[in-house]
Amino acid sequence: MNRLLEAVVENNRQWTKEGKIATYIPELGKADPNTLGICITTLHGEEYFGGDYETKFTIQSISKVITLMLALLDNGRDRVFSKVGVEPTADAFNSIITLETKNTQKPLNPMINAGAIATVSLIEGKNSEEAFNRILNFTRKITGNPDININKDVYNSEKATGHRNRALAYFMKSTGVIENDVEEVLDVYFRQCSMEATCKDIARIGAMLANDGVLPWSGERIIPRHVARIVKTIMVTCGLYDASGQFAVEIGVPAKSGVGGGILAAVPGRMGIGVLSPALDARGNSIAGLKALEELSKELDLSIF
Ligand code: GLU
Repeated sequence: MNRLLEAVVENNRQWTKEGKIATYIPELGKADPNTLGICITTLHGEEYFGGDYETKFTIQSISKVITLMLALLDNGRDRVFSKVGVEPTADAFNSIITLETKNTQKPLNPMINAGAIATVSLIEGKNSEEAFNRILNFTRKITGNPDININKDVYNSEKATGHRNRALAYFMKSTGVIENDVEEVLDVYFRQCSMEATCKDIARIGAMLANDGVLPWSGERIIPRHVARIVKTIMVTCGLYDASGQFAVEIGVPAKSGVGGGILAAVPGRMGIGVLSPALDARGNSIAGLKALEELSKELDLSIF
């Protein structure tokens, strides 16, 4: 398997030249565009690696999977989905348009920025510090990595430039979707996006989801089966921004991408996959990462459809 992953990396490294690194968060612009790494964690707890799998990156929108799980644990599905919908979107990940034009005023789903910010506002904690520490500890537990932390430079960079996210959040405060202090909620959101991980860490999150909420290497249940099912379903329909349909056709597994270039995939009953390549396409998905996942999906017959 390690040989297969090395071959997938070599076959697809050429694609790293095609995309562009996200620079709207200035600190992300420092990533090396040639990077391509993959890790697989099976449901027997075995781990396989290829390419630059040890490179750290900020997980960005991949954190939306983590905070959706925690919000569901804290509030139950009825309360969470009274604040955020479960419908895919054809608009960009940071779009504001449907917040005003849809009758419900709810953000469309928890995987776009507006929906993720609304979801994060539901996570328990008396202030942003406490809410974020719960997210951090939850992430450390799922990944089995007590060293997960935020990249402070990315956090500061995002906090300084996150005006679009501020606009989304204040708009949702005006419509009652967000009930608590907007700046506190945004602070949690900026921190969760700045959590730093490797392909191995995100493959482990995928493996837990693929295993219906149980850590494959220890047998510990992290989330109930029905929460894992909801999260994987939303990943299939909404996880790759406005390219989720195409991803389902080409690759066909629950997944979530982030503008740091990471992609987390959960192949039900089989494995978790973590991929990193920072150069993105126009929709914000890692180009070489998608190509590598596509090859892997064909080689290992991963599509759930
Ligand atoms: N922190 C990023 C933002 O809010 C996350 C976007 C993403 O990864 O899709 O713009």
